[in-house]
Amino acid sequence: MQGVVSKNYRELEFHQAVLEVVESVMPVVLATPAYQDAKILERLVEPERVIMFRVPWIDDRGEVQINRGFRVEMNSAIGPYKGGLRFHPTVNLGVLKFLAFEQVFKNSLTTLSMGGGKGGSDFNPKGKSDNEVMWFCQSFMNELFRHIGPETDIPAGDIGVGAREIGYLFGQYKRLANRFSAVLTGKGLEYGGSLIRLEATGYGAVYFAREMLATRGQSVEDKVAAISGSGNVAQHTAEKLLQLGAKVITLSDSAGTIVDQNGIDEEKLAWVMELKNVRRGRIRDYAEKFTGAKYLTDTKPWGVPCDLAFPSATQNEIDRNDAETLVNNGCICVSEGANMPTAPEGVDIFLENKILYGPGKAANAGGVAVSGLEMAQNRGFLHWPRDEVDQRLQQIMHAIHENCVKYGKNGDFVNYVQGANVAGFVKVADAMLKQGVV
Ligand code: NDP
Repeated sequence: MQGVVSKNYRELEFHQAVLEVVESVMPVVLATPAYQDAKILERLVEPERVIMFRVPWIDDRGEVQINRGFRVEMNSAIGPYKGGLRFHPTVNLGVLKFLAFEQVFKNSLTTLSMGGGKGGSDFNPKGKSDNEVMWFCQSFMNELFRHIGPETDIPAGDIGVGAREIGYLFGQYKRLANRFSAVLTGKGLEYGGSLIRLEATGYGAVYFAREMLATRGQSVEDKVAAISGSGNVAQHTAEKLLQLGAKVITLSDSAGTIVDQNGIDEEKLAWVMELKNVRRGRIRDYAEKFTGAKYLTDTKPWGVPCDLAFPSATQNEIDRNDAETLVNNGCICVSEGANMPTAPEGVDIFLENKILYGPGKAANAGGVAVSGLEMAQNRGFLHWPRDEVDQRLQQIMHAIHENCVKYGKNGDFVNYVQGANVAGFVKVADAMLKQGVV
């Protein structure tokens, strides 16, 4: 860890992600001299390639703007680099390295052949016109296109990169490469996208919670759920929870939380989707629209008593206090739709209290899994029906859960952090071993 910290100066999220994995896999590494001789861990923390580039574009007032673009190609031992693009002002190299590192283990867990990568920009799509977003996406792709390809690196969406952005990015790639190829996932259904990809991360996080609850003879039905965020993952987590009979009482964005003790039903959720995806408004409007709902400015949802918690916004959104509050209020299950939303001190609280805690790299792997299914359909010129993709997603989430139990069971408690890290690690490490020092 000393080497990681000094070599990756001030990249705190990256240090955090590496430390968590190293703590879990160290017993396996110590018991396997071949991993030590081949310096598997030392190689895993070094990205295979990092690309950083200027993204100039012109805004609606004619002013030149400059953003920074990145792609971190972390590990390709088990398949081409695969991972999303994030457009958010907080994006920097350290954040993307943490996300790319997590992605390596997550992709390994999905049972599909995908390496790990992540990219993005400090561009903020919020408040920008559709034209500005398009100019930016085109300029971003002007550089990125030479580094990606269906057998090399296949980006997808993440925070700030949804259907609109993927469309613009794909259009520019196709124009530059003169090729209609499966180089992005999360594509629109009209041009090679897969059914259920849009919903997959949220649905998958609920399927993973269902698997965890079943180990204690419980189900999602009639449980009260708190969700953070109100973007892609949060919306589809809410949708699946409602389908399975749970009551959803919170959503949030970076400015605050809405609490609706009457429950956010299908109709209210449809209104939220229109608000966020079409009008691109703020979640506080919900409290004005629906009687009985409250808006809490600058507040996260974790103080609201719930049975199930689905952090679905961003990293480190649950600190020690939040975790203690959740546990003290009776929360029995946390399934992470976001990447690394719980700070290490919060994770300790969940583990000490032996609640069901599904870390992001297992619980939110449904998104990249269906991206893998999108790639498979593209290769075969196929378009699977909705039910078929959903069935496969459920099977994959079940397999991920089984793998976590296999490597994380300790007496009658399953440590899903350890399970996910070790299961993800072993496959990648063995592949690296077989491929020699590359
Ligand atoms: P979206 O951009 O669709 O939504 C993000 C949501 O999180 C918004 O409500 C946003 O609020 C909120 N948010 C973002 N940054 C912050 C912040 N710093 N503090 C508080 N709230 C914040 O992104 P997604 O739903 O796609 O992604 C959410 C999480 O899920 C991320 O951690 C992402 O990495 C993870 N994830 C996403 C996958 C996918 O398929 N999309 C796959 C796997 C993981 P606001 O509008 O105010 O910014």
